[in-house]
Amino acid sequence: MLQNDNLARVLAINLTTKTFSVTARQDLFDAYLGGAGVAAALLEETCPRGCDPLSPDNPIIFAIGPLTGLYPLASKTVAMFKSPLTGNLGESHCGGRSAVAMRMAGYGAIIIQGASAIPLYISIDGSTVRFHDASSLWGMGNFSVGRIIREREKGAGFRTIMRIGRGGEHLVRYASVTTETYRHFGRLGLGAVFGSKHLKAVVITGRSSIPVSDVSLYKKTYTQIYKNAVSSPVMQKYHDLGTAENVSPLNAYGGLPIRNLQSAKDDNFSALSGEELARNYLGRRLACTHCPVGCIHIAALREPYEDEAYFYRTSMISYDYEPIYALGTMLGITEPMGYLKLMDKVEAIGIDAMSTGVVLAWATEALEKRLIGEGETLGINLSWGGWQAYIQAAQNIVEQPNEFYRNLAKGVEHASSLYGGRDFALSFGKNEMPGYHTGPAAHLGVLIGARHSHLDNAGYSIDQKTLLKEAMGPKDLVDALLKEEWWRQILSSLVLCFFARGVYLPETVEKILPVAGFSLDEKQLMELGRRIHAAKYRFKLREGFSFEELRIPRRILETPTPIKAFTEPYLREALLYAKKMVSGEIDETAALRNRKRNGNGSGTAT
Ligand code: SF4
Repeated sequence: MLQNDNLARVLAINLTTKTFSVTARQDLFDAYLGGAGVAAALLEETCPRGCDPLSPDNPIIFAIGPLTGLYPLASKTVAMFKSPLTGNLGESHCGGRSAVAMRMAGYGAIIIQGASAIPLYISIDGSTVRFHDASSLWGMGNFSVGRIIREREKGAGFRTIMRIGRGGEHLVRYASVTTETYRHFGRLGLGAVFGSKHLKAVVITGRSSIPVSDVSLYKKTYTQIYKNAVSSPVMQKYHDLGTAENVSPLNAYGGLPIRNLQSAKDDNFSALSGEELARNYLGRRLACTHCPVGCIHIAALREPYEDEAYFYRTSMISYDYEPIYALGTMLGITEPMGYLKLMDKVEAIGIDAMSTGVVLAWATEALEKRLIGEGETLGINLSWGGWQAYIQAAQNIVEQPNEFYRNLAKGVEHASSLYGGRDFALSFGKNEMPGYHTGPAAHLGVLIGARHSHLDNAGYSIDQKTLLKEAMGPKDLVDALLKEEWWRQILSSLVLCFFARGVYLPETVEKILPVAGFSLDEKQLMELGRRIHAAKYRFKLREGFSFEELRIPRRILETPTPIKAFTEPYLREALLYAKKMVSGEIDETAALRNRKRNGNGSGTAT
């Protein structure tokens, strides 16, 4: 890396002692680029073996990469921590202004350790770190906290405000952290880790500039990447309709989970399609910093006041494919207004939309099958499409007025282990499922992915692009998924928006890295990706992850997909092979033998 680059500076903050220090860690950035690679190394260094995710010992690590602030769509921040939902590796990515604010504040990584006795928020402004009493903010929702901190933290500079709502305060294991109102560290419970530390918010402000090695090479490569980004049809799709564009094609394909995945195709949900939402509700589009695409779609929901004629309030509510699936189709909600109002509630209380939808879908089916009764739900009649009841239940997940809601707040894996209904409890590696029932690759990809996310390796793409046309044995499928996941470690270390993966191909990355002082060819990049992936699995195995204990929900085998060859023995054989691959029992170079078959690409998905 460049000698004069602040990227190597790692800020360590201790909330117990209210102290901080800065260390130069060029060694880490030289070895792992940044982002996920550096965060995984720091997690291994700072997270004690077997630590309770909600104890002061659990570190929160934020990391960015060498392209942050320099190139279009290098706009994400990686957060790494031990997840209170899965009890294992927690990794979540967020856009907004977070990454560029960190870069301009002069840090490549920030580690937050310890816990405060009282609620506080911290503000990081260049080399200054301040600890503020946040007692008056504790109990407030996301929107109010953002508004108040914006008022307090006025001044020059590029700023981000990461904060939690009541979900994080109440330690909902899938509570999120919100930045800039519509972007989130959504998955795996970072909000609960904030809450356990009495940390209401982190404000980062920066003003410094970013060095480049060669200005003319920078200008030339920047222009090319910008042009490629704005002329790409995939990016046009994200700009026009946002990720909601995927609702219709996934339904047509038969891969859209509906009513707790009791089916995967139903034309009654057409009002939730990207086309219909844009036609009837689109209020504005937004973009993360340094993104010319602007995929963030915000609905304007206009409602009359009950007691005054001709007076209306307008709520601005973001919508994306994943929340539409989880809080819409998965709950049988066909009315856009119902979906938007539930989404608005989930935003305000600060819990992950995907986990919330899957948890509520399981609870609805459990109530239907009388595994639970209205004694558990406190009289709330959860039924498909009943969005008013779901809003009440989401509030109860946060407030936890009885044992049942306390258990729902720990995730569907936990709740179903107590009340039954495991066959239709849709979690993978204890993380609630994403919105793809496209075939075996989607589900296997989430099972073996380091963070049990569809973004780990995009199995949905292999289903649609490859498995629809030709059969693939379980080992070949694992090879293809791992190869994609290795490359995504590089994208996550740089830290690029995955929507730009078709723009930042390996040869492009090789060409632009020298601008930031790095020199790696395609082969070296792929090898580095493999090493970062191995580091994540080292942590997972250290913390007790077991391939043998992965549960395969029966529901995914019962609801047909367009791909027929899809049985539990097939998935178990794949898992056994994946275990051998990541534990080093098999020479991983063998994995490259299926290079041609790899469905590396976009498919219909986010
Ligand atoms: S494409 Fe969307 S998520 Fe990605 S950087 Fe742009 S606005 Fe953010």
